Amino acid sequence: MQSHEQPVLRDLVLVGGGHSHVGVLKAFGMRPIPGVRLTLICTDTDTPYSGMLPGYVAGHYSFDDVHIDLGRLAAFAGARFYRDQVTGLDRANRKVLCRHRPAVPYDLLSINIGSTPQLQGVPGAVDNAIAVKPIACFNERWLALLSRVQQHPDSTTVAVVGAGAGGVELLLAMQFRLRQTLMHMGRNPDNVHFHLFTSSADILPTHNPGVRQRFDAVLKQRGVQVHRHAAVTQVSPGQLMAASGEVVDADEIVWVTRAGGAVWLKDTGLALDADGFIQVNDHLQTVTDPHIFAAGDIASMVNHPLEKAGVFAVRQGPPLTENLRRSVLGAALKAYHPQSRWLALISTGDKFAVASRGWLGFAGAWVWRWKDWIDRRFMRKFQEFPAMPDSAAQGAPATTATGSVQLSAEESLQAISAIAMRCGGCGAKVGASVLANALNQLRPVQRSDVLIGLNDPDDAAVVRVPPGMLLVHSVDFFRAFVNDPYRFGQVAANHALGDLWAMGAQAQSATAIVTVPPGLESKVEDVLFQMMSGALEVLNDANCALVGGHTGEGQELALGFAVNGLIADDPTQLMRKGGMQPGDALILTKPIGTGTLFAAHARLAAKGRWIEAALQSMVLSNRAGAQCLRGFGVTACTDLTGFGLLGHLVEMTRPSNVDAEIDLGALPLLDGAQECVAAGIVSSLQSANVRLRRAVRNQEAMVNHPRYPLIFDPQTAGGLLASVPAERAQDCVTALRALGYVHTAIIGRVLPAGEALEPIVLRG
Ligand SMILES: Cc1cc2nc3c(=O)[nH]c(=O)nc-3n(C[C@H](O)[C@H](O)[C@H](O)COP(=O)(O)OP(=O)(O)OC[C@H]3O[C@@H](n4cnc5c(N)ncnc54)[C@H](O)[C@@H]3O)c2cc1C
Repeated sequence: MQSHEQPVLRDLVLVGGGHSHVGVLKAFGMRPIPGVRLTLICTDTDTPYSGMLPGYVAGHYSFDDVHIDLGRLAAFAGARFYRDQVTGLDRANRKVLCRHRPAVPYDLLSINIGSTPQLQGVPGAVDNAIAVKPIACFNERWLALLSRVQQHPDSTTVAVVGAGAGGVELLLAMQFRLRQTLMHMGRNPDNVHFHLFTSSADILPTHNPGVRQRFDAVLKQRGVQVHRHAAVTQVSPGQLMAASGEVVDADEIVWVTRAGGAVWLKDTGLALDADGFIQVNDHLQTVTDPHIFAAGDIASMVNHPLEKAGVFAVRQGPPLTENLRRSVLGAALKAYHPQSRWLALISTGDKFAVASRGWLGFAGAWVWRWKDWIDRRFMRKFQEFPAMPDSAAQGAPATTATGSVQLSAEESLQAISAIAMRCGGCGAKVGASVLANALNQLRPVQRSDVLIGLNDPDDAAVVRVPPGMLLVHSVDFFRAFVNDPYRFGQVAANHALGDLWAMGAQAQSATAIVTVPPGLESKVEDVLFQMMSGALEVLNDANCALVGGHTGEGQELALGFAVNGLIADDPTQLMRKGGMQPGDALILTKPIGTGTLFAAHARLAAKGRWIEAALQSMVLSNRAGAQCLRGFGVTACTDLTGFGLLGHLVEMTRPSNVDAEIDLGALPLLDGAQECVAAGIVSSLQSANVRLRRAVRNQEAMVNHPRYPLIFDPQTAGGLLASVPAERAQDCVTALRALGYVHTAIIGRVLPAGEALEPIVLRG
């Protein structure tokens, strides 16, 4: 989580988790600038390292070997990680526009989003060819191609369009892998045929003749048909046509030719080159806007035209870091002059590689091993992180050895005030204008039973309980456990509403309680706005009117809601914790494991994609699930939160006067949860929950079961735990899965109360 002792003074926003930005994140993680907050916005949690992609395609590396986990890297760097797609820039207001969340303000922006395929110019290519770029989506397309070839009867023909180093290397890697796959399947490896199309006379046109000859020989020996002077002009299903007049039938067409810049860049007003790439000067700063930098494929250095290759994007990492530092500190920028010659290590798929530099060229299996060593060393920088002293960015003044963040006079006063001891006499409330600015942008749902709410604020909100209805109350409050106020807001609201859904009520109104760390007004306002936008999205979706709240300053960002729900004035309508009947099946609608996963996240021990999946589970509303359970004659229900599965189950068995059996093997688990508990990582609440082990009759026999610790794992916005008549349970599970609760499972059954004091029995 972000340090709040040092107020945030500047926002450095990184768009895209490309090869340059991973370097920036690592460098800022090692040497943060106090007061400078990093935010990474990226469509992907795992970003591929291009140098190892051909080896991955050939089957020499695993997915994790060749992908950088941006979630972990951002956590190491103390950066906020927003998984989203950037769709534009509002340069006038210095905001990044995103597809799924409110705009993100920046003081300094850097763009490293790679390139986009340019298929539009060739009729039929968009629909009938597989573009290898953007590389972030390449894995999905490659796995689909691999599975199609496996299912394809008889022979398969693959055409690769583009004979630069990327195209040739990719072709040879694909061929190697497909032949191996067919052999393992007991099929004839010669049943896969390859064609390579190039518009020029030569393959690898930017490499020396010696290197070209080597690859010509390899392609010939591997039976690849090379079509020269054959720019592809049209693609139709299963066929491509070249300017040379050749027509070739192909089952798969892979496009590896020149790419361009993302379309949305055209509306930013940034100067672009002819291919739509952002023009940058020698400082990697856009020629248009001094607050915006760009690097990697998306950048076009006006004084140094470069090939679009990952190696350049990697090399731009350090000068980009340096100039972002200098820019935020108000220091003079430093020119970067890329090398005119570089060493390319191009593999042939079969653990053999060719080295190419200027007029030099040599080859061998040892070159592949050398490349493998270099690539793995590079990846280790993003897989293994040094332990950082907690104080790295905390509590230190907003200065560094190289300078200090440049502030206006008003900002300086605000920063001093934020650092100074707050008197508390104001009730530690947030300033009225900050609150008003943040809240005025929000649009809570309007309900006719809300007489006085946020649209007509008074000392308190006034809501009507319609005749014949009962009011159902609940409250929840917790600190931010994720460095993304918008998603935290979503989870906090969903968590609070969970109690209403579990009771069978409909949500009516909510009041918020917020704690936000002090800082520059603009930063506090934005955090409030982002967090409440996320919360409001969930509340509005639940038709729950936000009617008021209280916002105070505190060390940590925290949010809670007092929620009101309505239910018909008929106690039988309430879904209670008591009411389980012996013989009922126990159903759980969401996987468990949030406690251990976020504990691991805090220690950089969780994979980013585990955290992403856990967050998706946490924002899944229990509303439809509760309605569904009611339709299947639910006898008792609760939502899983802080006491964990066992704690909440005991809360159900006690008033029901029954025992229960849990099948540990049937528990739905979040990805990574078992790995985290196996590594001994548990939530700080776990020890309190474990005290309830006395409720487990056969705990001594089960204590070493790998899933045993997870029954104590505290959940945030967990699923519904319900008992349903056994004969309807399977249909109920099917219905819940169809509603989107895809992990729903029958996890045990309700037993008659036995003689033993311990009500819970575990099965392995
Ligand atoms: C199969 C293949 C093999 C290759 N092999 C090599 C090689 O061996 N050596 C080499 O030097 N080059 C190789 N390349 C080329 C290399 O992949 C690219 O030059 C390199 O990836 C460019 O790096 P980058 O940092 O500019 O962007 P990328 O690596 O493309 O990273 C861009 C990042 O930005 C994110 N992003 C994109 N758009 C948005 C958006 N709108 N909002 C938020 N995030 C966004 C993406 O998800 C991604 O994480 C290969 C390419 C392919 C396809």
